[in-house]
Amino acid sequence: MVYFTPGPSQLYPTVKGHILKALEDDIPSLSHRSEKFHEFVKDSYISLRKLLSIPEDYSIFYTASATEAMERIIENCVAKKSFHFVNGSFAKRFYQIAKDLKKEPEAKFFDVGKAFNCSDVSIHRNTELIAITQTETSGGVSIPLKDIYALRKQHPQALITIDIVSSIPYVNLDYSKLDCIFFSVQKGFGLPAGLGILIVSPRAMDKALFLMQKGFNVGSYHKFHTLKEQGDKFQTIETPNVLGIFLFHKVLQDFLEVGIETIRKQTEEKATTLYDFFDNHRTLQPFVSEKKYRSKTVVIIGTPDGSKPILAKLKEHGYVVGSGYGEMKENQIRIANFPAHSTNDMKHLLQAIPQ
Ligand SMILES: *Cc1c(COP(=O)(O)O)cnc(C)c1O
Repeated sequence: MVYFTPGPSQLYPTVKGHILKALEDDIPSLSHRSEKFHEFVKDSYISLRKLLSIPEDYSIFYTASATEAMERIIENCVAKKSFHFVNGSFAKRFYQIAKDLKKEPEAKFFDVGKAFNCSDVSIHRNTELIAITQTETSGGVSIPLKDIYALRKQHPQALITIDIVSSIPYVNLDYSKLDCIFFSVQKGFGLPAGLGILIVSPRAMDKALFLMQKGFNVGSYHKFHTLKEQGDKFQTIETPNVLGIFLFHKVLQDFLEVGIETIRKQTEEKATTLYDFFDNHRTLQPFVSEKKYRSKTVVIIGTPDGSKPILAKLKEHGYVVGSGYGEMKENQIRIANFPAHSTNDMKHLLQAIPQ
């Protein structure tokens, strides 16, 4: 089977070999206080910085998931007021976490799958953090980066956080305009789930330290302060996902070998193939109508005759695509376009779709 599901998804082709190697080398039994562990943590930081051009003064933290990163960001960057652009389930989760943590978040709600300009929205001046889901995996909308960067100019007092779980490693960021950036590895990196990455600007670190010193509850073992102190020593307080970090560092090396430009170019080519196919299909149409806002990595297609028959047909051919998210389960299919999905697989998938 080839999994075109938007997370977890198809494993990157090298991962099986890396898992076998990890077992051979007893990686799962390795102490997280050992020199060998520190070496590949260090290597993962270096490779990730190189692959994604992350500035040296931005910190990299390991979390258990992207959802954990949302909670850590609210705890460490917000005394009271966050602002959330909510256009789908994942953005809504972030907003709900701020509520659960007893902050006073505000939100602007948009229809799932619809285009909007985030720099047109009025945001109160006392907002400490603006949260944007750059690619909403539930609705297939990608917010153009230049609209996100415009927020920096409009709201210089606020920290800006973006969720890039389903757009990484395709998305190419200007970190100077962003403060907290997070993702998990089971989507674009083609790895087993259970590892999140949080990238934090010096400004966000300062805010976390300020809140901690003021006596706010910024969390315990995964407060930014502790994550940084430990991370600087290539350590974690808890026993982390050692196997997950090992596999991540291996896949980072593979991606570096292919080259990020190649990965991005292939993603664009496959996205063009996908959208061209469905724009010309008799009944199956892309859910996001405004082309500028269509995600290149999560393609959502309306299925007027129900998603089930198509899912079943594709399964017969060895392909698993996602159903619609939540309420849209029966009315849509979702196709992931990650580095693990080869151009050939994509072509064959489209050939298996009923005309
Ligand atoms: C999958 C996904 C998440 C959740 O990731 P976890 O690793 O399961 O916490 C968050 N945001 C977006 C946009 C996602 O696609």
